[in-house]
Amino acid sequence: MITNNLINSNQKLRIALLSPRGPLYRHRTGIWKKTLRYMPLTLTTLAALAPPELNADVALFDEGIAEINLDLEADLIGISAITGTAPRSYELADHFRRRGIPVVLGGVHPTLLPDEAARHADSVVVGYAEKTWPQLLRDFVAGQMQSCYVQGSNLSLAKLPFARRDLLPGSRFTITHTIEATRGCVHPCDFCVVPTAWGRRPLQRPVAEVVAEIRHMAAKRLIFLDLNLIADLEYARELFTALIPLKLTWGGLVTTTIIRHPDLLDLLARSGCRGLLLGFESLSPQALAETHKGFNLRQDYHEVVRELHGRGIGIQACFVFGFDHDTADTFAATVDFALSAHLDLPRYAILTPFPGTPLFQRLKAEGRILTEDWTLYDGQHVVFQPHRLSPAELLRGTEWAWKQTYSYRAMAKRLLGARIQLPLSLAANMGYRFYAHHLHDYYNCDWYLRQQPLASGAPA
Ligand code: SF4
Repeated sequence: MITNNLINSNQKLRIALLSPRGPLYRHRTGIWKKTLRYMPLTLTTLAALAPPELNADVALFDEGIAEINLDLEADLIGISAITGTAPRSYELADHFRRRGIPVVLGGVHPTLLPDEAARHADSVVVGYAEKTWPQLLRDFVAGQMQSCYVQGSNLSLAKLPFARRDLLPGSRFTITHTIEATRGCVHPCDFCVVPTAWGRRPLQRPVAEVVAEIRHMAAKRLIFLDLNLIADLEYARELFTALIPLKLTWGGLVTTTIIRHPDLLDLLARSGCRGLLLGFESLSPQALAETHKGFNLRQDYHEVVRELHGRGIGIQACFVFGFDHDTADTFAATVDFALSAHLDLPRYAILTPFPGTPLFQRLKAEGRILTEDWTLYDGQHVVFQPHRLSPAELLRGTEWAWKQTYSYRAMAKRLLGARIQLPLSLAANMGYRFYAHHLHDYYNCDWYLRQQPLASGAPA
């Protein structure tokens, strides 16, 4: 239990909330340009959850857009960590604790590995923080902060305060209007942290409250950060219907199963949806089965693209390389598909076995985890031994796919073929082109590339 010197004083509680940098997402030297940056919701949501009776001063520090002042003054520091930022989070936590400031760690990585996080924190928040974070703050002020807060299964997302977007500098983001209507996902994809960290029960905010927050923001362009907006079809219908009168332009995430529901596709278009992120993951049926993403098997990806493009909806399509069935031919086949299907914004990631996931457990049991340096767990480094590729082939093949897909010729072929929203797609494509051509600057796992040199540096 942590005691503090605020008890019995009239001093205002000063809270600093930090989002540490990762290898790719960092101020000045990062790879993400403003064209691809939207305002994240974690810190702004936590700030809003501070109980009003505490009258706290909350300051937000996102190391993706600005340096963190190591001399900052606060009574309590909260740090939100994903796996790729965990080492930097611990470095910051250790620093501030040495200065005598209590530190709370939360987010997906501390949820996956609470014991590891506890070595660097005075308290760890496990799971969603909507109820536990306000309780922690009340306990802190009372001098009774516990070492761990775990969200139970009874969480409701009703009656939550609106995120404090005013606390981050809007000028640093292309899109400041981001929102979440739901949490969680019903699917069991074995590489995904979502079912492992938060279970498979989707949670939803009342639609009226989502609409009220959009009106409060006076948003006309909006991104839903929900992991799967159609996890509950009835809720999705209610939400999309309620968006129609708002006359928004919006984007979000759904699964490819959307095309099984033509009425939902029509509602999407009528509600102002103009872009969707979909996890295609792989063209290989064996790879999809291997990763428990069987629901993608039933979709014809060309049909998915046709149905969405036909309704004026652009597609950010995510593919993953490194499944056990992937070979040196997988890269070229995927790029060919991205070009022939006229995908607006293809994205490639290297399969990453995040700790605690079924994928990590399987690879660990098979002795295939090459490193547990979490800074490399960012989706663009190889941290395990692939089955039919060498680590170097996987790394270089992924880089090659990025460059092929974002050559000027390939961009023209994809965008002119898609025939929708050219200005918006073009700006995002230019951002990804920069990413594709600077990725190699961020590869810091040469230790095994030196062990396994690849002569050509690209797929055959
Ligand atoms: S559908 Fe997406 S969010 Fe859901 S478990 Fe699979 S990868 Fe994760």
